[in-house]
Amino acid sequence: MLRRVLYIDLGNEDAWVEERQDLFDQWMGGTGVGIKLLMEECPEGVDPLSPKAPIIFCIGPLNGMFPVATKMVATFKSPLTGELGESYAGGRLPLAARFAGHEAIVIRGAAERPSYISINNSDVKIKDATSIWGVEAQTAGMILREHEPGIGRRSIIRIGPAGENLVRYAGVVVDTYRHLGRLGLGAVFGSKKLKAMVISGTEHVEIPDHKRYREVYNKLYQTTVQTDVMEKYHDIGTSVNINVLNWLKGLPTKNFQSSSFPEAENISGEILADKYLFRRLSCAGCPIGCIHIAQLKSAFSTHHEFEVRKVSYDYEPIYSLGSNLGVSSAEGLLQLIDACERLGLDVMSAGVVLAWATEAYERDMITPQETLGVPLQWNNVKSYMNALEYIVRPPNEFYAALAKGVDYASAKYGGADFAMALGGNEVSGYHTGPASIVGQIVGVRHSHLDNAGYSIDQKAAKKQLSPEQMVDEIINEDNSRGVFNSLVGCLFARGVYTSENIIDALGAVGIEKTKDDLDSLGKRIFDEKYRFKTREGFDLSKVRVPKRFYETVSTLGKVDPQTVDEMLRLYRKKRGWL
Ligand code: SF4
Repeated sequence: MLRRVLYIDLGNEDAWVEERQDLFDQWMGGTGVGIKLLMEECPEGVDPLSPKAPIIFCIGPLNGMFPVATKMVATFKSPLTGELGESYAGGRLPLAARFAGHEAIVIRGAAERPSYISINNSDVKIKDATSIWGVEAQTAGMILREHEPGIGRRSIIRIGPAGENLVRYAGVVVDTYRHLGRLGLGAVFGSKKLKAMVISGTEHVEIPDHKRYREVYNKLYQTTVQTDVMEKYHDIGTSVNINVLNWLKGLPTKNFQSSSFPEAENISGEILADKYLFRRLSCAGCPIGCIHIAQLKSAFSTHHEFEVRKVSYDYEPIYSLGSNLGVSSAEGLLQLIDACERLGLDVMSAGVVLAWATEAYERDMITPQETLGVPLQWNNVKSYMNALEYIVRPPNEFYAALAKGVDYASAKYGGADFAMALGGNEVSGYHTGPASIVGQIVGVRHSHLDNAGYSIDQKAAKKQLSPEQMVDEIINEDNSRGVFNSLVGCLFARGVYTSENIIDALGAVGIEKTKDDLDSLGKRIFDEKYRFKTREGFDLSKVRVPKRFYETVSTLGKVDPQTVDEMLRLYRKKRGWL
C-alpha cells in the first residue's frame, strides 16, 4: 500500500507528494500520523488563525478496505481552546482520499483571495472561490458539485459564513449531513481564505493476499450486520438516548439547571422517527446507515405554499439546541439545527453558548440593548434563530463575544459558574456523574468521545465503581481509542473492531502487529497529544469546572467536587505526572 503525504502550500499555490513510510510505520495513520504531523508543522505558540498554523487531514490503513472504517481525522491548533484541535468526519471523505492515493494531506499558508482546493489523484489545483465566498455551506456544496470532476468517488467539504467570519466554533460541512464540527476547524479554513476542498481519484490498492483479505472482510461484515453490535444505530439512532437519559436524570436541560426535561418526549428519537424521519443515509463503506434525515416543512405564504428542508439529527444536536435551550417542539428544534447547518456552526458549542446567554439574560447580566432587542428566553426559537445570525455576523461587542465561545463570553460578562465548558470546549450532552466530567477534562480534545466517561457513569449506576476504577476505565478508553482512531474507524463500530479483529484486518492489508504493539501505540499517541497540548499552554491542574456541575442532580446523584478532585489526582498519578 502506498503511504503518501500530500503537501499543499496555499500561499505559493504549490503542491507536492512525499513518501513518508517511516511516519506511517511508527504512527500507523489517522490520529497517530495526524498528531505527529501537527507537531512537525505547527510552530509553538502560533496564533491558530495565522497563515503559519497548518491543517492536517489523515486516513488510516483500513479506510476503504473494511466495513465501517469510514472516518477521516483533521488535526490543527484550535482557535476555541488554543491547544489541540482534532475533529472527525465520515461521508465520502475518507474513501475519496483513498481513491486519490493520499493517506495524509498537509495544508500550509493562506491564500490571498477566496480559494478552494481541487484534488484529483496527484493533480492538485488552487482555484478561485470568490463567487462562492459568503454563500451558505449547503449551497456552496451544490455549486461545486456542478463544477468539479470525480462524481461517485468525490467528496466536497466546505465552510459557511461562520467559518469565513472566524467564529471560533465554526465547523466544516462534509458532503451531505456530515461535519468536521468541533473545535473551530471552520475558522481555521476561513483564516486561510479556504472555502472548500474537493477530493476525487481513481487509484486502487494492492492487496497482498486476496484469500486472507476476503476471509477477514467477511468476518467483519457479518459481525456488523448479523449481530446486534450496531443494531441501535440503524433503528432510532443515537437519539434513542434522549428518553433514556431523561429517565436516568442525565439529560442537560436549560443550561444544566436540571437533568431531566418534562417535554423530552416531544423531541425524542421515537417522535422524530415516527413523525419526521424521511430517510437514513450511510457514510461510504458502512452498511448500517445511522444518519437520520428529517423532513421539515415550513409555509412561506398563506396560500399553502411550502418549502421542504432535509435536516439530519442525532443525540447531540437534540440536547444542545433542544433540551438545553428548553425547546419543546420538534419543528423548532429542526429549524435551529438547519440554521447551524446553513451557517456552518458547530451545533454543540452554539447550543451551549445560547444556553449560557439565556441564563445570563434571565439574571439581568446582559441587557436588551446588548442583545439588540432579541429576547433570549427558553424555548424562544425565533430569538435563537436571530441570535445565531448575529453570532455569525456580529453587529456589536456582545455577539462578537458569543462568537468566541462561552469561556470568553463569561469572562467578559460574568456567569462563569454556569458557563458550561471544560478545557475551553463547550460540553457534550451528559450530566451522568463524575466520570463524564473528569473524562472531558482529561480527554485530549475535551470531548465525550475521547474516553466515553458518560458510559462509565452509566455502568457505575448499575454496579458501583470506585473513583479509582472509573479512572482506570477512562485511561483504558483513552489509550484504546487512540489505536482505533489511527485506523480510522467509526466509533460506533468499536464492538466490531476488537483487538483480535484489528490485528487480523491489519494483517490482511500487509501490516503485521501484535496486541502489545497496539497497546504501546495507543499510549504513545496519547503522550504525543499531551506533549502538544502542554506545549501550547494547557495545564490539567488549572482546568475550570463550572459550579453548575455540582449543583444539579446527575444520574449518580449530586456530584461531589472532592470526588472529581480525587479522580483527577488519581489520573495524574496513574499517568506518571505526579
Ligand atoms: S454507523 Fe453511522 S456514522 Fe458510523 S459509519 Fe455508519 S453511517 Fe457513518
